Amino acid sequence: AVEVHDVHKWYGAHRVLNGIDLTVRPGEVTVILGPSGSGKSTLLRVVNHLEKPEVGYVSLDGEPIGVRRNGDRLKELSERAILAQRSRIGFVFQNFNLFPHLTVLDNVAAAPVATGRLSRPGAVALARDLLARVGLADKAAAYPRQLSGGQQQRVAIARALALRPGVILFDEPTSALDPELVGEVLAVIKDLATSGTTLLIVTHEIGFAREVADRVVFMDGGRIVEQGPPSEVLDHPQHERTRDFLSKVL
Ligand code: ATP
Ligand code: MG
Repeated sequence: AVEVHDVHKWYGAHRVLNGIDLTVRPGEVTVILGPSGSGKSTLLRVVNHLEKPEVGYVSLDGEPIGVRRNGDRLKELSERAILAQRSRIGFVFQNFNLFPHLTVLDNVAAAPVATGRLSRPGAVALARDLLARVGLADKAAAYPRQLSGGQQQRVAIARALALRPGVILFDEPTSALDPELVGEVLAVIKDLATSGTTLLIVTHEIGFAREVADRVVFMDGGRIVEQGPPSEVLDHPQHERTRDFLSKVL
């Protein structure tokens, strides 16, 4: 499980996260919704410790991420230890962030080799399996610039899967895509969801959330305003701010 424990994040006087508590159980799909600036991306970045919270911490399967308990205090881990933990948390970005100078195959195979988990032949075999899973077996030798945005994002998902992460974080994975390419990426994410991968997804795709999410979390002003199954949060929102947001995006 991913557990977010009373996380606060601020930049000077600007309070971005104001006490976030959230649990994503193994195999659960949680979708985060909320207006621009509500802190969604910051929360994902705190989960894999790309941002350090001022207060609180996140744990994965009971192990604090980026810190260790030292009495009642939290002590920052070494950069090396943080990188090792981060390899258990997949991250798929809005803009794909593939390595432009590596082939599709090497984009997927690189991390398992670099982290010493697999031999080069083992990583290549895994990468071929994962590329087939996202429908791109025939693109292994291509370079990212030769692919559509939807294909690049599917490579990015295969790359995230290559480290067999305990959870995959998605930050608006389809918002940089042309509309006709959104469906192919959502279909891959849906396949992960139904096969029991733990997912935490920021998206404005309400239809997708309704279909795939076990839980929807609505954030505003750095707080979780409400959360629950899609049938509650999307169809019977309890808070004015949630109703107002949904009326704008639906
Ligand atoms: P969007 O839907 O537009 O992606 P978001 O919900 O992901 O929005 P965040 O990117 O988490 O929002 O940003 C939340 C707030 O934190 C914003 O007001 C933003 O300006 C501020 N913020 C984020 N990163 C920094 C930073 N490095 N320095 C200062 N302020 C920041
Ligand atoms: Mg964002």
